Amino acid sequence: MTDMKTSFIDQAGAAFACQSASIVERRQTFGLAERQDALDCLATAIRQNEAALIAAMATDFGKPEAEVILTELVPVMQEIRHASRHLRRWMRPRRVAPTLVSFGTKARVRSEARGVCLIIAPWNYPFSLAIGPLVSALAAGNSAIIKPSEMTPATSAVVAHLIKEAFPPDLVTAIEGGVEASEALLALPFDHIFFTGSPAVGKIVMAAASKTLASVTLELGGKSPTIVGPDADLKQAASWISFGKFANAGQTCIAPDHIFVHASVKDGFLTALRDRIAKAYGEGANSPHLARIVNDRHAERLSGLLRDAVAKGARVSLGGAMQDRHMAPTLIEAITPEMDIDHEEIFGPILPIMTYDDIDDVTQRINARPKPLALYIFDKSRERAEQIITATSSGSVGINLTVAQFTHTGLPFGGVNTSGIGAAHGHDGFRAFSHERAILSNHYSSLPMIFPPYTPGVKKLIGL
Ligand code: NAD
Repeated sequence: MTDMKTSFIDQAGAAFACQSASIVERRQTFGLAERQDALDCLATAIRQNEAALIAAMATDFGKPEAEVILTELVPVMQEIRHASRHLRRWMRPRRVAPTLVSFGTKARVRSEARGVCLIIAPWNYPFSLAIGPLVSALAAGNSAIIKPSEMTPATSAVVAHLIKEAFPPDLVTAIEGGVEASEALLALPFDHIFFTGSPAVGKIVMAAASKTLASVTLELGGKSPTIVGPDADLKQAASWISFGKFANAGQTCIAPDHIFVHASVKDGFLTALRDRIAKAYGEGANSPHLARIVNDRHAERLSGLLRDAVAKGARVSLGGAMQDRHMAPTLIEAITPEMDIDHEEIFGPILPIMTYDDIDDVTQRINARPKPLALYIFDKSRERAEQIITATSSGSVGINLTVAQFTHTGLPFGGVNTSGIGAAHGHDGFRAFSHERAILSNHYSSLPMIFPPYTPGVKKLIGL
């Protein structure tokens, strides 16, 4: 065993033991006021580290300051505010009406902390996807160990520092590191594991969780199809698609992965999209509003996807240039099923454009693939949008917008099967980190006929 592996096993074991030791006491002492204090502490620590976070994400992948504010800081602060405001109601036991059989009893459901939780985060939103789930974990009364991504080390270091500043280690702690750190943590009997990352690693996490039967929330990825219908507002579609696809340089789990545009509006849509891209990012790859591809491996992966597609007959109709891991917004046409880009999650600023005449061909294609994390529809016809929704499945749907569903604290955020299991955000995030404990108490001596010696009264129950 390597020294590093041993050190992660020791570190993970010590952090887990420390949190486990206080979990029984925490159940009784970590009430509404204490949880609200914890959320306040987190908000303060974020404000104090705002400049460091902006600098770290610039270092890690050239993320523009405005994008850090918009897509990392604002969503987390909003989650904190929303949880603080609604926590009292979320924590209140839910009364359940008696049924005929349970007449004479009182029923309620208590949301209880799951216990010691593990949060494993990806690199692409290295702050919000590490700290967002923590908001829900704390609101639900848990302790948590966070494992940020090794691929954005500057941000991970600020996350770890911020956690250390804000919380005692028996409540929250961060363990920095890569696969070995993850593996050391996954070997421990956590009460809940909240994982955000690729479907491939999601399977590893679920297999590890099956050993201790830890519950899991898996926030995964995939290809999110985007349909531009015959009646779409083309300027609106171009603006939202350009924003959703090229923010974070396309390294967004719910970015529009590829477009199906109705043949009758293809030319108009492409003109609007090119105009929008030119206005937002100019020509080439060096716009200050474009983040960088996170590392050489991913830059090479994206270049490889383009090379493979072009070799098999695809046409790059805009962009394609890569300079110091900055990639120009790229449009690519004439995609065929043999191309890797047709079935791999792109996760970068390359946007395949495909045309269609019959929407059934599109929905059949979507249904033949793994269920996407998001599906976007641009069309003024509500009926057409509803038909597409009814004919398909996806984690979420955006109509005449992209990615904004992530920021709505009232909506569950999650995938379905390959794109994820369970949901995050707001009350759904609170519930992901809670065990809903059913409590039925007998207030009168009810249903005596269920006890032996059995009487013909039991038969009457059948006729309920
Ligand atoms: P990843 O799965 O490679 O890594 C995620 C985390 O898992 C990291 O912390 C990493 O250290 C750890 N990890 C990697 N390999 C591991 C292994 N073998 N065993 C245990 N742990 C391991 O994902 P990524 O590259 O960081 O992020 C990109 C993926 O995440 C994309 O597929 C994207 O769609 C998805 N994603 C999903 C969401 C969502 O909310 N659904 C959000 C962001 C990203």
